[in-house]
Amino acid sequence: MKNDKNNQKNQSRKNKFQLYKPRKKKSVEEDAAIQYLQAQYDKIVPDEIKTFKDFPLSQKTLKGLKENNYITPTEIQKQAIGYALQGKDILGAAKTGSGKTLAFLIPILEKLFCKKWTRLDGVGALVISPTRELAYQIYETLRKIGHLHDFSAGLIIGGQNLKFERKRMDQINILICTPGRLLQHMDENPLFSCSQLQILVLDEADRCLDMGFEATMNAIIENLPPERQTLLFSATQTKSVKDLARLSLSFPTYVAPHEQAETVTPESLQQSYIVCEIDEKIGILWSFIRNHLKQKILVFMATCKQVKYIYDLFCKLRPGVSLLALYGTLHQEKREKIYNEFCRKSNVVLFATDLASRGLDFPRVNWVIQMDCPENVETYIHRAGRTARGVFGKGEGLLMLQPHEEKLVEDLKKSKIPINKIAVDPSKVIAPQRKIEGLLSDNTELKQSAQRAFVSYVKSVFLMKNKEIFNIQLLDTDAYARSLGLIVPPRIRFLDKYNAIARKNQSEATVSNDVIDKLKANPDEETDHSVDEEEEQAEVKVEKKPRQKKKDLVTFDFHNDADSDEDEFLQVKRTNIDVEEVPVEEQSTSKKKAKPVTKAAVAKKILKKKLKVNTKVTFTEEGDVVADEKRDVKSELAKQFVNENVGGIDIEKAKEVLQEEDKYDKIRFREKVKAKHKEQKRKLKNKKKDEEGEKDDFGSQSESDGPDLSWLPDPDQLYGKKDDTDAASSDGQHDGDSDNEQALSESEDDEVYHRPTKRKLVESKGIPQESVAPRKLKKVQDISASLSVQEAEALAMQLLRTK
Ligand code: ADP
Ligand code: MG
Repeated sequence: MKNDKNNQKNQSRKNKFQLYKPRKKKSVEEDAAIQYLQAQYDKIVPDEIKTFKDFPLSQKTLKGLKENNYITPTEIQKQAIGYALQGKDILGAAKTGSGKTLAFLIPILEKLFCKKWTRLDGVGALVISPTRELAYQIYETLRKIGHLHDFSAGLIIGGQNLKFERKRMDQINILICTPGRLLQHMDENPLFSCSQLQILVLDEADRCLDMGFEATMNAIIENLPPERQTLLFSATQTKSVKDLARLSLSFPTYVAPHEQAETVTPESLQQSYIVCEIDEKIGILWSFIRNHLKQKILVFMATCKQVKYIYDLFCKLRPGVSLLALYGTLHQEKREKIYNEFCRKSNVVLFATDLASRGLDFPRVNWVIQMDCPENVETYIHRAGRTARGVFGKGEGLLMLQPHEEKLVEDLKKSKIPINKIAVDPSKVIAPQRKIEGLLSDNTELKQSAQRAFVSYVKSVFLMKNKEIFNIQLLDTDAYARSLGLIVPPRIRFLDKYNAIARKNQSEATVSNDVIDKLKANPDEETDHSVDEEEEQAEVKVEKKPRQKKKDLVTFDFHNDADSDEDEFLQVKRTNIDVEEVPVEEQSTSKKKAKPVTKAAVAKKILKKKLKVNTKVTFTEEGDVVADEKRDVKSELAKQFVNENVGGIDIEKAKEVLQEEDKYDKIRFREKVKAKHKEQKRKLKNKKKDEEGEKDDFGSQSESDGPDLSWLPDPDQLYGKKDDTDAASSDGQHDGDSDNEQALSESEDDEVYHRPTKRKLVESKGIPQESVAPRKLKKVQDISASLSVQEAEALAMQLLRTK
């Protein structure tokens, strides 16, 4: 298999070769080998398989597996590969880290091999993954085990150069992708067709088929030929008839080697949970990290903004170990870099959202900590399954629950998850509370980040379906805010709105659904909780009405109005707040029920006071009025307009006036330029006279006296820097590869990613690829040395106009 991402030059050479040379005929022996292999498919007995060699697999696949030390198939591989080779649709369910990836990649390679698939045959296999990182990981595994085959593989994920991908789509045989990007190509790219598709795989199938991807997946499925083989894999497999019907799977083979196992999680995964108050979490996490500095730890939180804040905060607190953060709203390049860094390092802590909960095979993770309660049992299984992976993998999981969330443990136990309650030794918990507050008082940005983290978490709780566990009324928001270092709990706008509407309409249920729908309106393809997409800006609490009594837990009374004691208490708090953050309307509305201010009322008021609106008066430092040049109109039309115009804007008229005035402006401008030139010439003459007789450096003189071009926009900024490094990296990236929407790797492995380079970005903005800007700049510099002042100025004007 040739890698589209790497070795672009090799590849384009190869493409040419394939285009002009007649297609290589498969040898008779190869035909015979294929026939032999296919004849063995029906004889496969999973329990008799000891090594991969016992499967009737092509030599190329066997060699690829051996090269990567895959000798003995895992249970799911033993059970699923045989059926898949026979062409059956499969529902594969096996524990996390049990080797599901090879269970579908091997059949893909074999199917296309037996069909003698070539580059010219188009997309033969499609693998859909819910996240970019997982798609990248699958792609990498495919490259490793399939590189001896002649197919091309492509990674099509978000965050990458769409144009570049487009051109290469018709040459991809095995496509690994995320749903959103795939649909985008299906919709927009005329070169892309899946009409020849032989095999469709959904990895993390239940996630791909859940509500977050519903519309996208339905549209994708519509575009696929129905006569294909379909394989679904997940540790928490869907058995929903509706899902299967959507995929036209009527009689899939259910392969679940661990169905009878005592636990649904890996045996080598040791799982515990602690119960603590919400404001103890940060201290516990901090102390845990400080006590496990030599370990690789993955910490899950509910939202992007929490991850961002805790990461920034802990970096500032310097725990003595590398920290990383991975979440969906990060820029793609960063995501790639962080993913790779966490894979590579061994003493490191990664804070992540559920973006990292599915499928990712980070090597040697010692601990998975679920700092916020998982949405459901499935999410718990996937998060915890980031450790104790593979054949010999071991690991531990720690779940932090608030007292009211402990109900989740019953569900976990019912689902065959062995988890034990443990207690934290309070003497070992050192909460850096004072330090956090100190940091926040010095750093507004960090404080705002804390406020956003607060609101996003509250919102995530609000949006969770399981109200028995995620009950916002049981959330001690004040305590949570304090634990984040916020002395004043931020205002929770969406909740205020919710409360207001709920009070207005008594049918709370309907309202809550409306509000929840609105909050969920920004679905996020990349699986952080959709709430992360909400840009709810945290605001300092300014309302008079308290949301919560000081130490109370249950104080979200949706129908409760002001409480005078609390008022005072909060007012005291308010003295610490920047006054500018208090909107004027809010201050006034709190005093009395103000009449709504309409635009008409404002206009009336203005007319009454005989104020002239839309006028501007400029004063000098001494307080003298400066005559407004703009008011000094020349054309008759403009004079008439100024006299008549008492208020409001007549756009049409103003346009006419401006056009008329423009003529005079041009004359005025020309005169100004002439005068300036005269002045400059005069200065130049004087200087020459002064310097006559002196030995001089002409270059420097002309430079210093020449027109000042420093005000010209910096072409580097405008067009991107074109230096050697860039050129090299862009070459590396464009050669080779076909991929992606949002790959994750970083520069160490140029071959792997097809990130849009600056050069590409220039191109995509419609600017010719051969970096125009640097040349232009050079020209300007060269010419500026030889031009007269007048010519240089004219050139500068022209450049400005072009811009
Ligand atoms: P899953 O998709 O079931 O969570 P993966 O396919 O990601 O699991 O595999 C988990 C780990 O096990 C990977 O590191 C992979 O390289 C390793 N692995 C998979 N199959 C085998 C095998 N047959 N022999 C040894 N290691 C394997
Ligand atoms: Mg997997």
